[in-house]
Amino acid sequence: MVKKDPIHDKARIQLAEKVAASGVRHRQVLEAIATVPRHAFVDEALDTRAYEDSALPIGHQQTISKPSVVARMVELLHKPKKELGKVLEIGTGCGYQAAILSLVAAEVYSIERIRPLHDQARAKLRPFRIPNLRLVYGDGIRGLPQAAPFDGIILAAAGLGIPDPLLDQLAIGGRLVAPVAKSEEEQQLVVVERVSSQRYQRTVLEEVFFVPLQSGTV
Ligand code: SAH
Repeated sequence: MVKKDPIHDKARIQLAEKVAASGVRHRQVLEAIATVPRHAFVDEALDTRAYEDSALPIGHQQTISKPSVVARMVELLHKPKKELGKVLEIGTGCGYQAAILSLVAAEVYSIERIRPLHDQARAKLRPFRIPNLRLVYGDGIRGLPQAAPFDGIILAAAGLGIPDPLLDQLAIGGRLVAPVAKSEEEQQLVVVERVSSQRYQRTVLEEVFFVPLQSGTV
């Protein structure tokens, strides 16, 4: 995925070490963090901050997510000792998490509702020629019925609940990982596993902070 780049090589490995120190154990996920050049997904002016473990602005009031949170959520998407098959991401943003997902899942679809961000992500991802990643412009609240069912669904924006179409488009045995808003200020990370066609098992984890899930396209 990356050409030799001594300045950023070291920074990426250090970032993966920070992410491991935050508690992420999944080897493939840590390798993906050590591989994807995060500076390529942020504005050049933020180049020096690209390998900090923090969210950064990407325009249109959106952010590139915090690497340790990206890694934590992608780790949670995995069932123990199982490879990830087909994954849907809601909220492409700049495309960083989509690139991470492409290294750990067989097939990745990523939806973005803001046209300029979708176009920018496409441009930023093009040089990497990722064959198993498809970017879609649209409202992720509706999911992507034409590509369902998904073994994993990951939301990069927080809604008041989990949209029903996404639960419907989860494969049996699949997992969905999402930030869910409890109030204006409070959000929790939620994991939902589809146990059977009618049964879903929900686990509520730590507090997180994400941009809001919004409906419609702009
Ligand atoms: N995945 C990104 C995070 C982007 S921030 C990363 O790698 O860092 C979350 C993104 O979700 C924003 O770009 C926002 O526009 C998008 N979003 C919010 N609601 C959405 C919806 N209903 N459908 C698709 N994208 C949505």
